[in-house]
Amino acid sequence: MIYTNVCKHCHKVFRSKIRTLCCNDCRSEDDDRLDDIVQYLKLYPNSNALQISEELNIHPYVILKYMEEGWLGEANGEFSQLPDD
Ligand SMILES: [Zn+2]
Repeated sequence: MIYTNVCKHCHKVFRSKIRTLCCNDCRSEDDDRLDDIVQYLKLYPNSNALQISEELNIHPYVILKYMEEGWLGEANGEFSQLPDD
């Protein structure tokens, strides 16, 4: 299965074997923040996106995107009830 993806950062259309919202060019930018979030969730497994956002100074929308992509499978999803805009 090959997915067609649109990068959420540069909006480039690209194909990959996994569903992702970030192209390789922008991946390093993503990884830095993702690492921080993963580390935080190891320390505080029951945190929701709003708490992570406040602690790490990352916009909640970015964290919710990671959740949607499946990176934060064990995260509490209670903050994912944001209205779409
Ligand atoms: Zn990109």
